[in-house]
Order: sequence, then C-alpha cells, then structure tokens
Amino acid sequence: MNQRELFLRHVAQTSTAPLALEIVKAEGCLLFDAKGKEYIDLIGGISVANVGHRHPAVIEAIQKQLDAYLHIMVYGEFIESPQVQYAKLLTEHLPVTLNSVYFTNSGAEAVEGAMKLAKRVTNRTQIIAFNNSYHGSTQGALSVMGDEYWRNAFRPLLPDVLHQEYNSFESLESITELTACVIAETVQAEAGVKPPSKEWMLALRKKCTETGTLLMLDEIQTGFGRTGKLWGFEHFDISPDILLLGKALGGGMPLGAFIADKAMMDSFTKNPVLGHITTFGGHPICCAAGMSAMKAILEEGMIKSVKEKAELFSSLLIHPNIKAVHSFGLWLAVEFDSFETNKRVIDKCIEEGVLTDWFLFASDCLRISPPLIISEEHIKKACNSILQACDNL
Ligand code: PLP
Repeated sequence: MNQRELFLRHVAQTSTAPLALEIVKAEGCLLFDAKGKEYIDLIGGISVANVGHRHPAVIEAIQKQLDAYLHIMVYGEFIESPQVQYAKLLTEHLPVTLNSVYFTNSGAEAVEGAMKLAKRVTNRTQIIAFNNSYHGSTQGALSVMGDEYWRNAFRPLLPDVLHQEYNSFESLESITELTACVIAETVQAEAGVKPPSKEWMLALRKKCTETGTLLMLDEIQTGFGRTGKLWGFEHFDISPDILLLGKALGGGMPLGAFIADKAMMDSFTKNPVLGHITTFGGHPICCAAGMSAMKAILEEGMIKSVKEKAELFSSLLIHPNIKAVHSFGLWLAVEFDSFETNKRVIDKCIEEGVLTDWFLFASDCLRISPPLIISEEHIKKACNSILQACDNL
C-alpha cells in the first residue's frame, strides 16, 4: 500500500474529500510535496504559521529546549522557564487586567477552561455565543459553535447556551445579570472574515460591564498580527475580561491559552483545589517555540507590512467572476457565486501550486491567510494563479 492508501485506511478521516497532499518539507511560505512540487501556502495551516514555516528562531528555540527537558510534570506544579518567560512576554503586551496566563494544548481547550472560569467567577451558568462562530470541536466548544448543522448530531450539549446574531444591537438585550459570559470572535473567521462595527463592539463591552458579565474574546485566528495589530481587539478600543489564544501562539507547535486577571484565575485554586488540570498544557517545547515566534513577530516588522501586503492582494484580485473580496488585515475571503465555482478555483490553484481552501460557514469564499512574511513576488504569483483559474471556469 502506498502512503495515500495507508493515510485513507489508518488515519481517521473527517471528510470524504481530504486534500491528501503528501507534504515532505515546509519552509517560510512554501510547502513541498513528495514529488518535489512547490506550493505557495496561502493558508498557513489556518492562521498558524504567521511567522512562516520553520522560522529559524523557532527551530533554534526548540533545539535549545530539547537539550534541557521535555515534559517533566503536570501543569502548574514546577517552575518551567519557557512557560514563565512566555507568560511574562504575553502579559507585557496586553492590558494590565490580562495578567495571568493558563496554557493549554489547543484552542478548544482554552475555550473549555475559560468557560469553566467564567461560571466559577460569576456563579452564573448562562453563556451567550453568536451565530456563525467557530470556537472548537470539543463538547463545550461545540456547544457555543454558531451553526446547528454541526451541533445537532452531538446533542445533548452544554445547557443554558444562547445563540445570538453577531454585530446586532438587538442581540445585546439578551445579556443580563444571569449571563456568566459572552464568547465572541473579535472578527468572525469562518463566516468569511466578518468584522463587527466598532460601535457594536463598544456596546457589547458596555453591556457586559453593566451586567457583570465576562466578555471573552476568541483571538485564536485574529491574534499575533493577522489583522495588522498584535491583537484584533486593539482595532475596537476595548479589551476583554478573558482572552483566548491558540494557533499562531505556538509558532507551529500545539499551544492554546486563556488569559485573565490573576484574582479571577485564582478561583481555580480552591473549592475545588485543582479546578482545571492538564498534563501537557504549556509543554516546554511549545512555549519555547511560541515565545520565539512572538518575538520574531514583534522584532522583525511583520505587523508593519500587513497593510501593504493586504492592499496588494486586494488590488490584484479583481475579476468579473469574483463577487467581492472581504478582508481584515492579511486575511481575505474571496467571494464567488457558489461553492462549486469556489471549489473549481481552489482545485485549479492547487494544480498550479497555490494552496488555499474555503471557510466553514462561507463555502463560496476562498481563504487567504498566508504567513505574514509572504513576499510581494509570491503574492503576485498566487494572485495570478487565482485569476487564471477565474478565467478558465
Ligand atoms: N477558535 C477559533 C476562532 C478557531 O478558528 C479555532 C480553530 O480553528 C478554534 C477556536 C479551536 O482551536 P483548536 O482547533 O486548536 O482546538
């Protein structure tokens, strides 16, 4: 059996049509398959590879940590320098109330821990989430996912979850003294890069404060420079009570985090003690890798170039078959008239060595969320392939 057959037989599948590219090497903005074909990576592992694949500083940090220790103890017991230093770096770049970091293995686990924290701190049970939001696939995260199609087969899920319309002022009326937390993406990712209005974000923040509801912002895709600022919430002049991070947080290694005020986070230490436990969360290699990636983002001017690169994409992606281009930072959703058209474009792009895909709740939109280090030359080449595919529909 060849690799493809083994993959299909022994690696659990989540769709009947996986991309099934056999990638043997990844470097910067490029992926290479087993036949030596090169792909420009327009999706960066879905907003993970913000610093590019195998950034030299990340590789060096991993190698250094490999020589010291791997996993040594469950979370929170030992002083592990990579965790301590990364938590310090993160909090130095966040509002003062976001000063305590709980590291997890994934984005979904950050969502799970944060929802427990909100219930524990507020003594309330109701959670408000938004339609067309994606927060992960575990049962709690699935409960707040904004689409019944994906939720339905797995019921019963968490009780007391209310779904509302994102960016609707009317929906804010449902936030009351009964609400433990509101969970929202700062910009809705899988809806096809949909930012809310600044007025709505301000009103959401205000309503949460007035009712003693914790505002939990999911920056798992919007964090680490993707939007042109380090954090997406900076565009809206607000800050959350709990911040959720993942994806680019680990620089290519699995890492998530929820970040809140220490006074809040300390509620996990009593009644019951060990209120949230993880064996591998905050793995030293992942924290070392993530910290070096974050430093690279801050020190190598990656955020500064986001606007210019995004504008280049937008200026090139003009074609009668493209209905619209939605964008927020170096993050674009190219809209076609249907999923079928989008899929034809995606398939042709892949044939031409440009890797892209669609969005979960916007299957008629082609995803562009490349490493922030993508070069002008690669942007032009990738757009050329997209336009050629549009010509030949
Ligand atoms: N939140 C958002 C906005 C996401 O896009 C994702 C993953 O795609 C998650 C949460 C869940 O993260 P993970 O897949 O690491 O569990």
